[in-house]
This record gives sequence, structure tokens and C-alpha cells, in this order.
Amino acid sequence: MSSEVVSWASSSGARARMRANRNRDTGPELAVRRAVHALGLRYRVSCRPLPQLRRTADLVFPRLNVAVFVDGCFWHGCPEHYVPSKTNVSYWSDKIRGNRGRDRQTDQLLSGAGWIVIRIWAHENPAEAAERVARVVRDRQALRPPRGGKA
Ligand SMILES: [Zn+2]
Repeated sequence: MSSEVVSWASSSGARARMRANRNRDTGPELAVRRAVHALGLRYRVSCRPLPQLRRTADLVFPRLNVAVFVDGCFWHGCPEHYVPSKTNVSYWSDKIRGNRGRDRQTDQLLSGAGWIVIRIWAHENPAEAAERVARVVRDRQALRPPRGGKA
């Protein structure tokens, strides 16, 4: 971490923002989780779709192989809301580019392992995003008979 970043983080407001960004329970994630839950779907929270892959998804449907990531507009470089920093320009642009590259790699590794990856921007309407998740999950459920079913 460069000294600029340390000094930037030294105000309590900045520290709180950093914590909020690191925490799993940020507002948009929580809103999406609630909306998906309200549609009657059950999922696991903040876990690795593939144990050997060090990537944590926000919502995971383990049996159906569906992983949902809620991406923060700043950290993941949302095309609508990402505003390049005016200070430490190269530090931040490298960081965001790195995050985006990592996201694409995660998508490829998961889909290569038979998973469906759904990415939701933090700015999206949670109810609409939840509908998107529900459609994918129900399609998958339709393809797989329930475990222990009569079939
Ligand atoms: Zn955005």
C-alpha cells in the first residue's frame, strides 16, 4: 500500500468507506439477497462456488451451479458510474483494471466448471436483478429433478 493510500484512509470517514467496501453485507448485496429471498429462492451467502478456487460469490446455489456476484460500481469499473480518480491515477486505474480482469477470469473458470455466473451491478434495481436470478435458477431447476425425487 502506498503512503498516499494510507493517508487517504486515515480519516475516519474514509476508513468506514473502506470497511463498507470490504464487508460482505453492503447495502446493494443485502438488497439483492432480500429480493431473491422474497421470490422464494434459497441460497448460500458469501461462499466459494468451487472450494479450490479462491473466489467468493455473494449468492450461491450449490446444487444448481449458479453463482451470483454483486459488483460495486467503483471497484469493478461500472461503465455508467466509474469515475476515474483525480489523484493517484495510475494506482487506481491499475487496480480497477486488475479487478475487472480478475472478474472475467472468475467467470471463465466457473463457466468452464459448469457454473452459470450472474453479475449484478450495485446500481441495478434489486427487484429486477432478483427476477433475473430467479429465471436462471428456475431454468436450472427444471433441468434437474429434485434430489431424492421419485424419478
Ligand atoms: Zn454503476
